[in-house]
Amino acid sequence: MPDTLPPPADLLAGLARIVGERYVIPPGHDQEPFVTDWRGRYRGLAEAVVKPGSPEEVAAVVRLCTAQGVAIVPQGGNTGMCGAATPAAEGRSVVLRLDRLNRVRWTSRLGDAIAVDAGCVLADVQAAAEAIGRLFPLSLGAEGSCQIGGNLSTNAGGTAVLRYGTMRELCLGLEVVLPDGRLLDMMTALRKDSTGYDIKQMFIGAEGTLGIITGAVLKLFPRPRVSALAMAMAEEPEQVLDLLALARTHLGDRLLSFEVMSRRQVEVIAQHMPDVAIPFPLDAGWYVLVEITDTLTTDTLPALLESLLGEALEAGLLTNAIVASSEAQAATLWRIRHSVSESSKAHGYVVSHDSVVPLESQAAFIRGVEQAILAVEPFATVVMHGHVGDGNIHVLGILDPGLFTSPEALREKAAAISMAVDDVLVPLGGAISAEHGIGVSNRARLHRATSPLEMELMQRFKTLLDPNNLMNPGKVLPEGPPHPG
Ligand SMILES: Cc1cc2nc3c(=O)[nH]c(=O)nc-3n(C[C@H](O)[C@H](O)[C@H](O)COP(=O)(O)OP(=O)(O)OC[C@H]3O[C@@H](n4cnc5c(N)ncnc54)[C@H](O)[C@@H]3O)c2cc1C
Repeated sequence: MPDTLPPPADLLAGLARIVGERYVIPPGHDQEPFVTDWRGRYRGLAEAVVKPGSPEEVAAVVRLCTAQGVAIVPQGGNTGMCGAATPAAEGRSVVLRLDRLNRVRWTSRLGDAIAVDAGCVLADVQAAAEAIGRLFPLSLGAEGSCQIGGNLSTNAGGTAVLRYGTMRELCLGLEVVLPDGRLLDMMTALRKDSTGYDIKQMFIGAEGTLGIITGAVLKLFPRPRVSALAMAMAEEPEQVLDLLALARTHLGDRLLSFEVMSRRQVEVIAQHMPDVAIPFPLDAGWYVLVEITDTLTTDTLPALLESLLGEALEAGLLTNAIVASSEAQAATLWRIRHSVSESSKAHGYVVSHDSVVPLESQAAFIRGVEQAILAVEPFATVVMHGHVGDGNIHVLGILDPGLFTSPEALREKAAAISMAVDDVLVPLGGAISAEHGIGVSNRARLHRATSPLEMELMQRFKTLLDPNNLMNPGKVLPEGPPHPG
C-alpha cells in the first residue's frame, strides 16, 4: 500500500461516475455471489462490485482505486478452483467484474482467428467460431459460465489439450489494463513474431495479479466433421498408459481426448448423481474416455477406434470397452466425466490437487499418492480423474467434515494431505498446478515445486508492474514485503 493516501473520497460515487450507478453494487446482500467462491470455501469483503463497460472504463476504475489505495480483484465467471477471484476478508477491495465486456470484436476465416472482449463466456466464443465454420477448442465443464479473461488468467486446459494445447498456446494477442491504469494493446493476430520478449505470456496464468485482461485474439482451427468415442476399462494405471501410447501410434493427430477416472470416482458419481446413467459395470480399476475426431468426412473413424481397442484387448491391456454407437450415447459417456466436480463436492470436503507429472512417472505417482493420502487420513475417500493424456491428474482426498472437531482441524488435515501429495510429486519432477492455478489455496505450496530463483523473478516482476500490491493482492505469491529493488 502507498505510504500516503489521498484524503478519503467517496469511492462509490467515483465508480458510479465512471461506469454508471446501476453498474456499482454497494456492500450488502446483492454482492454475495461475487464475494464468495462457488465452492463456498472463501468469503471476502468488497467496498463495491463494479461492472465497467469498456477497456477505457476498466482503466479509469483502476486509476481511481489506485489513487485511493483500494485493491482490485478481477473476476470473470467465478468458476475458478483456488479462491483467486474472491476478495480478502480484510482491507479495502473492489471486485471488478468483466461481464459487460462481452463483444466478439472480429472473426477471420482466412487467418483462423477471433478477437474477443475478455468478458465473453467461453461457450459464446465456441459458438462464434462455429458460425464461421471454425473451432475454438477449449472445452471444460464450466464453459457455460467461465469467461475468456478467466480462462487466460488461469491458463485453462480442459479436455482437448492433448491436441490443441492450453490457453497459452491458444492465444495470439492480448489487451491488458496495467496496475497503473495504462492500456497495453498487444491485439495482434500474427502467427510468427520474434520481436523481443513475449510479454503477453506474463499475463496468461497470472490470475489477475499483474493486470486486467480486457481483450484477446485467439486461434481457431478447422472444424472436425466426424468423431468417435469409446469408454475403455483397464485394471492398472500402467495399462492405461500403454493404451495411450498405442492410441498415439494408431490414431496420430486424430486423438483428441484421453480422460481417465478411477473406479472410486465413478462410484462417487453413481452414489450422488442418480440421474447420470452409467451404462457399464463398476468392476474395473480405471475408466478411460478416448475421443477421436477428423476434419475429413470419413466413416472409418469408429472402425479405427475398434481396431485400437481390439488390439489393446488382445494385448491384455483392457478388460472391456464400449464404442458409442450414437451421438446420444457419446453424450451419456461424456456426462459421466463432466459430473466429477459436482459429485465429489456432494461427497464431502474436497481436498483437490491439480497435479501434473511426466507421463513416464504417472503410474508411480498414482500408486504413491493414494498411499500417501491414506497414511495421513485413513478415512479419506481418494478419487482420481483427469486429462492423463497430457500428464494432468486431479487427485482428490474427500473428507467427512463430521469426523473433525472444528473447521481448523479439518483445514489442518487438508493441508497435511496436500503436503503428502507434494512429497510424492516433487521428486518425480511434477508441478502442483497444471490448469487451475495457485490462487489462495495453493500459495503456501508454490515454493515446493518452484526454484528459489524462479520465485525471486516472479516477485520482482510483480513488484515492477504493481509496486503498491493493489492488483489482486494475496494471490499466487506468498505474502511478504515487496522484493527489495
Ligand atoms: C464444473 C467445473 C469444471 C471445470 N473444469 C476445468 C477444466 O477441465 N480445466 C480447467 O482448466 N479448469 C476447469 N475448471 C476451473 C475454471 O472453470 C477455470 O479455471 C476457468 O478458466 C475460470 O474462468 P472464470 O471466468 O470463471 O474465472 P474466475 O474464477 O472469475 O477467475 C479466475 C482467476 O482469473 C482472474 N481473472 C478473471 N478474469 C480476469 C481478467 N479479465 N483479467 C485478469 N484476471 C482475471 C481472477 O482474478 C482469478 O484470479 C472447472 C470449473 C468447474 C466449476
